[in-house]
Amino acid sequence: MIVIFSSTHTIHAPPHELLNGELVKAHETPDRAEIIHTALVKTNLGPIIPPHIFDMSAIQAVHDTDYLRFLEHIYTQWVAEGGSPLAVLPDTITTRHMHRRPTFPLALPGYYASDLSAPIVAGTYEAAVTSAHVALTGAALLIEGHQAVYALCRPPGHHANRDTYGGYSYLNNAAIAANYLCSQQRPAQVVILDIDYHHGNGTQQIFYERDDVLTVSIHADPAYEYPYFIGFDDERGKGAGEGYNLNISLAEGTTNIPYLEALDYALEAVAHFDPTYIIVATGVDTFEADPIGEFMLTSGVYPVIGQRIAALRRPTLLVQEGGYAVDALGNNVVGLLQGIIKQ
Ligand SMILES: [Zn+2]
Repeated sequence: MIVIFSSTHTIHAPPHELLNGELVKAHETPDRAEIIHTALVKTNLGPIIPPHIFDMSAIQAVHDTDYLRFLEHIYTQWVAEGGSPLAVLPDTITTRHMHRRPTFPLALPGYYASDLSAPIVAGTYEAAVTSAHVALTGAALLIEGHQAVYALCRPPGHHANRDTYGGYSYLNNAAIAANYLCSQQRPAQVVILDIDYHHGNGTQQIFYERDDVLTVSIHADPAYEYPYFIGFDDERGKGAGEGYNLNISLAEGTTNIPYLEALDYALEAVAHFDPTYIIVATGVDTFEADPIGEFMLTSGVYPVIGQRIAALRRPTLLVQEGGYAVDALGNNVVGLLQGIIKQ
């Protein structure tokens, strides 16, 4: 299995996030990717290569141009206007009732942010673009004929919409890779299977009206878990995309067996779609000791999840999303990848 990794991610190191009413130390840290990288080196799963550089058009095909310009320049503008140099974190956010796009640098982040978990620091834009290139390199390798590729993306991406950021996500790496696969080899059909603990809201919204990308997400019930306002089972797509979005929400405390039953159900839908490629938005914050997840999966289940996905025998790109129990993170990701290879 080829692994794609860039140490550029380390320049994105937000100091804090707002969680449950408190400003706390960031959960989404550079340590996460370094720990996974170290575990992969030790396990020797396959070659670890740097990403190729892609034209911005591959990212612009998914994200709004003004939003990309905002991400690129806001840190400098924010600091110049007197915002804290620690990080861009807005104090006023658009709502259903006030949503005119501002130009003032201290107001603009509140127009694009969907929550206060994703501060922007000086290196955020470059790290996010590189993370997208890591995923795009994985997509290009699938086109070349590789059967299984792992993109060690950081920052993660599945909460980023076309023109919003949040949930530690700025650019939607999995969506960018899926769109690239669709645009390069028609008529490619792509599934994005999201196994992160949280609903992949950005991914769902980006493809909600499309029938060439099936989005499937297994996640904590948004009735009690982030992202709260989306991710319910009755959201099935719209227009041409009607029937091409599947949400499987699970209760707090979900353990291995019911999780695997939900996975089997998801995989049936994937098989029925008959995809050319599968992209797995790979979060391991479903782990029992995860500090922000409430599922109870054990380390032993990740190889089983990998095997069941690989049993579909389609070229598969795994894109790293969440996972915050750093002591077990390397082990859980490696376990999942070994399951993929073993099948
Ligand atoms: Zn997550």
